[in-house]
Amino acid sequence: MSSGGLASHEMKRYARQLPILGVEGQRKLKNTKVLVAGVGGLGSVEAIYLAAVGVGKLVLVDNDIVELSNLNRQILHWTDDIGKAKPISAAEKLRKLNPNVEIEVVTEGITRENVEELLKKVDIVIDGLDNWETRFLIDEAAYRLGKPYVYAGIHGFQGQVTIIVPGETPCLRCVLPPKLRTPQQIPVIGSVVGIVGSIAVTELVKYVTGVGEVAKGKMLVIDAYSMEMFKFELTPRKNCTC
Ligand SMILES: [Zn+2]
Repeated sequence: MSSGGLASHEMKRYARQLPILGVEGQRKLKNTKVLVAGVGGLGSVEAIYLAAVGVGKLVLVDNDIVELSNLNRQILHWTDDIGKAKPISAAEKLRKLNPNVEIEVVTEGITRENVEELLKKVDIVIDGLDNWETRFLIDEAAYRLGKPYVYAGIHGFQGQVTIIVPGETPCLRCVLPPKLRTPQQIPVIGSVVGIVGSIAVTELVKYVTGVGEVAKGKMLVIDAYSMEMFKFELTPRKNCTC
């Protein structure tokens, strides 16, 4: 296979995925900057696989500190990391996993004030969030700025994933009830977070490389309790701002 501008160490590192993604796909990943919104459970899984697959840059955003009760599912944070800022704890491991990936750490929350500035740093956003308020902030700003947003959510054994592409798919507000309240503590099993986060990354990789069929305009619903998966079509809501 021609290296097409990839270094020989990259050709080796990605040897098992190159037959699927191609050198061109790998180069597209390398030229992609991703905002990981939240580096908790979902964000840990997403960031690990995004680093491993070889995206060019990750911007890790979270204002949380690692706590003992995070460790059943937030696999980028280990016992020694308790008390550290999550993006810093995550960046330490990700840099060791794949030094080719540039990592930017942002230890602030995502707010109405900074959301646009954060989105302008990247090409695409992936959801590692645990609350609707921030999701809707990202959804609106990403749609406005024309940045695709891979939505992922978890509750117990259930998970949901879709990719929102401005101008091509409905936005998140179209799809979800307008007033969703975030429960104080969402019950979660780490392995289910792993399934859902991995699916979100797979969608992102397909979208960026153009390999495979992306679930655009479709919500993937994963029910790990019965181990069933289904998709339903998303329809734009009348009078939605998007
Ligand atoms: Zn909408």
